[in-house]
Amino acid sequence: MTLIMKGSEVSAGMKLKLAEEISQLDFTPSLAIIRVGSRPDDLAYERGILKRFEGLGLNVKVHELPEDISHADFDAEFSRLNNDKNVHGILLFRPLPANLSDEFAVNNINPKKDIDCMSKINIAGIFSGDNEAFAPCTASAVMEMLAHYNFDLTGKNVVIIGRSLVVGRPLSMLMLAKNATVTICHTKTQNLPEICKHADILVAAAGKAGVITSEFVSDKSIVLDVGINVNAQGKLCGDVDYDNVAPIVQAISPVPGGVGAVTTSVLAKNLIRAAK
Ligand code: NAD
Repeated sequence: MTLIMKGSEVSAGMKLKLAEEISQLDFTPSLAIIRVGSRPDDLAYERGILKRFEGLGLNVKVHELPEDISHADFDAEFSRLNNDKNVHGILLFRPLPANLSDEFAVNNINPKKDIDCMSKINIAGIFSGDNEAFAPCTASAVMEMLAHYNFDLTGKNVVIIGRSLVVGRPLSMLMLAKNATVTICHTKTQNLPEICKHADILVAAAGKAGVITSEFVSDKSIVLDVGINVNAQGKLCGDVDYDNVAPIVQAISPVPGGVGAVTTSVLAKNLIRAAK
């Protein structure tokens, strides 16, 4: 029978460990969320963070900035929070509105507060195997899922679909560090179904609803679906054609309720580490 890898189970396991760590601190870690405007995606993620952090007793303050904020005012607000000793971690929702650039924030964020790996310093850290560097929360969430369900990566063939700097590339480095043999695929990859079918672990991070069909998997596949899409019926879905793929494979994470449900727990874990 297919193992369904549920984000709620992974987060529940993480919560026990995080609560223990928090109980040993004599202060409360504090996250600053910077949100410009009110994009529905940002608001949904923000609600998830507020709920998770409240459950753990962590502080979060949302700094909502108007969509028409000037560049100078945006950079000044970012600097203020970056320099505030009471802020231990910063999460800037991106992409920003077209009139703003995130260049100043990316180049200036204190790497020790950069708990979702925005700065090039943390990205370089991930690529050079620095254990102190913060990886993007989604990439770490995939690793947490595999660890929770006791899937050892040593010597395994992993195929990651997607080469972005937020998911595919950093995840490939985290998996390499666990001794997996990693292939990264993208829109120009040839014979994609064939490559994927031979993977022990398949990670879908293409951002295309239902592109991963039964042709891409075997009964040995462990499938992690990172995609967050809206299908033709207006429903949230992943990159995997779940109904047809799930019955075939060894294990699969659903959307919603899979990797996405672990991301906020990783954010909490990173905040606690930053605060310490
Ligand atoms: P992106 O658009 O930056 O990158 C997508 C990558 O997939 C590209 O490298 C592209 O080459 C590749 N790709 C696209 N279509 C493909 C196809 N048909 N075949 C092969 N490769 C293909 O996206 P991203 O920011 O990396 O996000 C990917 C997905 O993950 C999105 O659906 C996004 O919403 C989701 N996401 C989820 C979380 C989470 O918490 N679960 C967090 C971040 C992003």
